[in-house]
Amino acid sequence: MKDIATKEEGDGEGDKAINDISTTNRLESNVRSYCRNFPVVFTKARGSTLEDEEGREYIDFLAGAGALNYGHNDPVLKEKLLDYINRDQIVHGLDMVTGAKQAFMEAFDSLILKPRKMSYKIQFTGPTGTNAVEAAMKIARNYTGRQTIVSFTNGFHGVTLGSVAATGNSHFRDGCGIQPQGTVFMPYDGYMGEGVDTTEYLDKMLTDGSSGLDHPAAVIVETIQGEGGINVASQEWLRSLEEICRKHDVLLIVDDIQVGCGRTGTFFSFEEAGISPDIITLSKSLSGYGLPMAVVLMKPQLDRWKPGEHNGTFRGHNLAFVTARAAIEEYWRDAAFEKEIKRKGGIVRERLERLADLDDRGILSARGRGMMQALDCRTGDLASRISALAFERGLVIETSGSEDQVLKCLIPLNITDDELKRGLAILEESVISALLEIPDLALDKEVETLWMEVLA
Ligand code: PLP
Repeated sequence: MKDIATKEEGDGEGDKAINDISTTNRLESNVRSYCRNFPVVFTKARGSTLEDEEGREYIDFLAGAGALNYGHNDPVLKEKLLDYINRDQIVHGLDMVTGAKQAFMEAFDSLILKPRKMSYKIQFTGPTGTNAVEAAMKIARNYTGRQTIVSFTNGFHGVTLGSVAATGNSHFRDGCGIQPQGTVFMPYDGYMGEGVDTTEYLDKMLTDGSSGLDHPAAVIVETIQGEGGINVASQEWLRSLEEICRKHDVLLIVDDIQVGCGRTGTFFSFEEAGISPDIITLSKSLSGYGLPMAVVLMKPQLDRWKPGEHNGTFRGHNLAFVTARAAIEEYWRDAAFEKEIKRKGGIVRERLERLADLDDRGILSARGRGMMQALDCRTGDLASRISALAFERGLVIETSGSEDQVLKCLIPLNITDDELKRGLAILEESVISALLEIPDLALDKEVETLWMEVLA
């Protein structure tokens, strides 16, 4: 994408050009990523809208890669946060007991766990997703005394050494400098094509003493692979996976870091499947406000930690506890929010399917569940071009998948209908424009007119 940074005449020393990202380009490490695709200086955000230095607005279909399920600066959460700060309450607390921390646990237990008949111990890890995954893997290994963790093709679980070993993409694995260890990969649902139940293969590998697969401590799985390209595991596949874990005495870890907190239509993404994971990881939208926070939920009998055996300075981010509690109380008191997620997810899916149906060469296809929806564009070039064109038109949307071939709609769950429709309209226009640009894909005039008419 071209650098769309703009310059403005300054009237004195110290004036900075608007949307000048030269400081970042000069000083920030090459490892930076999202800012390369959206090269402006963002200054404000409210709800589902971002604003840059120039005052230009963007509808946010990225939502902090799933960390902003309730949008930016939710007013109810903000009020609770400001009130807490104004009263000089504890901000940093290591893992000491604070009112904010206990209140979060009470709310989580009474509004999330108990209504779902779930009983779990809560471990506060360092505040990013990968911290939770590292802890989850240690719990499974220490409890079972076994080393191997089974992960799945296209899985993404983080980039620290333990979690990256469970991450499939070589882009991340190659960056480690040492061989990632302790994991074995099995085919995810759909990886071997339609009609192949890949859990049967796992079952066979676990049953056959000559398969070469050491008895694993655990299986770690995403119910929908977020970074891996919005690959959706069927409910039957998840149920079968749980059954196989039970049959072979293997723990089941569900990594709900990206798809939890309501993204798929229920608080936990596995609720519809009716499975009962031994360990669950949560982060991203858990704080509700984009503040860093992560937890591991484990069945009580798995809690064999010695005090401080897995620690970390930032396990007591009380501002995150305040907003996390507020988010739970605001959005998860009854079933109304879940209904809304399902309704909006239906709108997104319908529009994406319409795009896919209009393209009779079958380049595009839609998939997803709840508000985790995506448009597969087959090539990374096409998906990236659509993302770039959408950004020029005022929509932030990212790609995912092994080749970045999938446009991922991670829309704030509480987006207004009007913003949702405007965002989807920009996406549709950008798809058509991108298809028209690529010579060997270009639509003929007739098809273009038809598309425009249908989408109008
Ligand atoms: N697990 C899943 C399923 C994720 O999607 C991610 C991040 O995208 C992680 C773990 C790692 O989280 P973090 O980037 O906060 O370390």
